[in-house]
Amino acid sequence: MRYYPASMNKLIAELSKLPGIGPKSAQRLAFHLFECSKEDVARLAKAMIEAKDKLGFCQRCGHLTEQDSCEICQDESRNHGLICVVEEPKDVIVLEKTREYRGVYHVLHGALSPLEGIGPDELRIKELLARLSSGEVREVILACDPDVEGEATALYLAKLIKPLQIKVTRLARGLPVGGDLEYIDEVTLSKALEGRQEM
Ligand SMILES: [Zn+2]
Repeated sequence: MRYYPASMNKLIAELSKLPGIGPKSAQRLAFHLFECSKEDVARLAKAMIEAKDKLGFCQRCGHLTEQDSCEICQDESRNHGLICVVEEPKDVIVLEKTREYRGVYHVLHGALSPLEGIGPDELRIKELLARLSSGEVREVILACDPDVEGEATALYLAKLIKPLQIKVTRLARGLPVGGDLEYIDEVTLSKALEGRQEM
């Protein structure tokens, strides 16, 4: 990297901080940006800053939004008595793509992981329990990832929710174990949702 001028080194260093981008990909991207028009680069930089400025989390469910409350939470035609609990905002997108689910969501922003120091207080569990105390919710679907952390999180939540007399279900088995909801195709996910089982 010392063979490049300082500004190129800086660009490569910043790009290699992005997830999934190794030094070689960072170099390739840096050269690509260098070859782009100044307008294209400005548009990219503006999009990044604008997203960072405008986006926040829905106060109710924790999904991405540019307002206090996301479009899904604001949608009166959806079933607000059915909450699907997921780990990340991108899981909401995956479930929305199935076009099968008409309830609302709750995004935990992670999963329990004692090794990484992520306990219940680091997740949006208090917020979930507050929503459940309204008495409006009839069922909670636990759609945590089918991996060790996701299973542990689902079990933990089931224990907390069951005493509240609310039905708790888990996506049907048959999802690839160790996987991420994000990588599961829409048909498989639709079936897992349809065949959900009470915990
Ligand atoms: Zn929301």
